[in-house]
Amino acid sequence: MSNLPARLSELIGKPVHDIDTPALVIDMDALKRNLVRMADFAKKHHVRWRPHAKLHKSTVLAKMQIKAGAAGVCVQKTAEAEVMVAGGIYNVYISNQVIAPAKLARVAALTQAVASHSGGQIAIAVDSREGVNRLAKAMTEARTGARSSAATVIDVFVEIDVGQGRCGVQPGEPAVRLALEIRKHPALRFAGLQAYQGKAQHLRSAIERRMAAANATKAVELTCQLLKAHGIAPGLVTGAGTGSFALEAASGVYGELQAGSFMFMDVDYAQNERDPAQPQFEHALFLKTQVISTHASHAVCDAGHKSHAIDSGMPKVHAFDNLSGLDYFNGGDEHGILRPVDGGSTRLPALGQLLWLIPGHCDPTVNLHDVMIGVSGGLRNGTVDRIIRVDARGAMT
Ligand code: PLP
Ligand code: MN
Repeated sequence: MSNLPARLSELIGKPVHDIDTPALVIDMDALKRNLVRMADFAKKHHVRWRPHAKLHKSTVLAKMQIKAGAAGVCVQKTAEAEVMVAGGIYNVYISNQVIAPAKLARVAALTQAVASHSGGQIAIAVDSREGVNRLAKAMTEARTGARSSAATVIDVFVEIDVGQGRCGVQPGEPAVRLALEIRKHPALRFAGLQAYQGKAQHLRSAIERRMAAANATKAVELTCQLLKAHGIAPGLVTGAGTGSFALEAASGVYGELQAGSFMFMDVDYAQNERDPAQPQFEHALFLKTQVISTHASHAVCDAGHKSHAIDSGMPKVHAFDNLSGLDYFNGGDEHGILRPVDGGSTRLPALGQLLWLIPGHCDPTVNLHDVMIGVSGGLRNGTVDRIIRVDARGAMT
């Protein structure tokens, strides 16, 4: 891999022990098992999966997902889509609202860029008439400026709010009005509905998540019926995250799953009561850290919140080497404080002791790092297999 610091390239083939800290490390065996579980699940339930690449921001991992059976990837940002396309991923869905004309021009350029690749297709979500008109204008301008005579089309999903209270028009008539608007423009193809229930993902009890998903499904069904009544084929219904995707898959209306986090599994998702219908995923992303200072009541490690995100809570200390009895507390940008759980009698780790943290929230954790270090053969005795660049790190525009 080009432009990697030598100390990273030289790690390949070396024992896990040689990875300096703090470092973001992927247990590649666990990651592959998670991918197989999702692929099998999707096949069994006859749904597509287009996992969210905002998790890993990596073209290498996107390609692994597609090889495992994914239809393409979702992204949240135009810049993420550009990174994916430049890296050879040609089926990309921007599952978000894009309004700035300068960005829409870039989205339209991407539709041209993927057109010559087999299966190449860019898709985007909309939730306003103005958004549709701006997108249509950008697409028309790109067509006019294009060297090739092939007229490219963008797939457009109408986002409906199914309970998250974020983006999305109300289900029913407002969604139909937007679909009719899309159909006025030859460069836009109405592709279906985006119905992502974000709030449902972290409801802890399985029954609460079932209720939220049932309400979302009802809203989708109503909208599909109305679309049909207007002579419009409802197309594909896309949505779902790691907390709920088994429910969308069983709904009979969703045709595509966007879950992303299942591949790494963070502490937050691991706290959900597992729905029996959902496959069990393993933690595959870890932050390797080491103890740099010891005291009577606590130890200090070299991983603070510049190396992992704390918006969904603190990381957990992985239960290696009898260290499961330690709690992690935020010690600032560069430090983590380790104390025995509930003031118990667990021995504090010694100076230089290596520890593995499971991030509280994987997506923003990855965005703090330039690379992820892929390990095969396990975290205890494995070797460094590859260095995976976080290609779309910081790609915000
Ligand atoms: N789809 C959309 C629109 C999202 O915003 C998200 C996450 O926030 C996801 C899918 C993926 O969810 P997760 O990574 O929690 O599985
Ligand atoms: Mn997330």
